[in-house]
Amino acid sequence: MSAIIKIENLSFAYPAEEGQQPHKALDNVNLEIEEGSFVAILGHNGSGKSTLAKMLSLVLMPDSGSVWLDGKNMSAEDITEEDILQARREVGMVFQNPDNQIVATVVEEDVAFGPENLGLPSEEIRRRVDEALAMVGMTKYARHAPHKLSGGQKQRIAIAGIIAMRRRCIIFDESTAMLDPVGRKEVMATIERLNREEGITVLHITHYMSEAVRADRVVVMDQGSIIMDGTPKEVFSQPEKLWEVRLDVPQTTELLYHMKKNGLDVRLDIFDPDECAAEIASALASL
Ligand code: ADP
Ligand code: MG
Repeated sequence: MSAIIKIENLSFAYPAEEGQQPHKALDNVNLEIEEGSFVAILGHNGSGKSTLAKMLSLVLMPDSGSVWLDGKNMSAEDITEEDILQARREVGMVFQNPDNQIVATVVEEDVAFGPENLGLPSEEIRRRVDEALAMVGMTKYARHAPHKLSGGQKQRIAIAGIIAMRRRCIIFDESTAMLDPVGRKEVMATIERLNREEGITVLHITHYMSEAVRADRVVVMDQGSIIMDGTPKEVFSQPEKLWEVRLDVPQTTELLYHMKKNGLDVRLDIFDPDECAAEIASALASL
């Protein structure tokens, strides 16, 4: 496996308001994203998650440090505008509000918008739109009006638009945050399918621990830095560290933590309710 994106010693501050000191949104961050992986990014509001996403998608460029895409240093002297544009075509972003991402009045036209801007021939656009709608399970809504769809359906249309552009990596910036539980499930299932079946690299910024536990890897940010990075089991077996930066842990972990604190010998890195119940039962049986 190789890194599709790598950032090295990256720092960034937004321009300061008059009379104020610039405040670092990212402070010496290092991160490598393996091609084909599914990475969840957690962090309290203002911890730098969206800024990091913009760095990884080359929307923003670092003040210091470097961004590598496919082993190519995008901050190098000899990188051209064309290289940057090309790199931006590899990484797509899906945002929080589904309503802000729809541009057309018919679903299939909305999905076609990106490929049309790439100047592709119309048969190729048609093929990509059909394929993308099928991948997100929205084929039968192709001729519908997007504004009449549910939030989850709208997000799936936004995702189809990105797929139609053949992005190799998609960053979801709290794309499930505004959805109801049904919409959230639909979108999560779509994201997982794109990763597992299509091999698309996924970065999923979320506040839902139930979503984070499904990733291969969890990266935790606080105040512009990465403070934890590991498998869900590694990260969530340290609940105190997460609570310290005002984050939640999965409900099973919280329950097991309290059981353990009260003297029961249980593991903390269990996210499935049935497995959690079995762990507690077996610990009780051995008392
Ligand atoms: P998160 O996505 O984790 O909530 P952000 O990356 O949006 O965090 O923000 C990180 C820091 O940068 C915060 O202190 C935030 O106030 C600041 N920030 C974000 N966007 C801007 C902006 N456009 N201009 C100035 N400061 C910003
Ligand atoms: Mg954000």
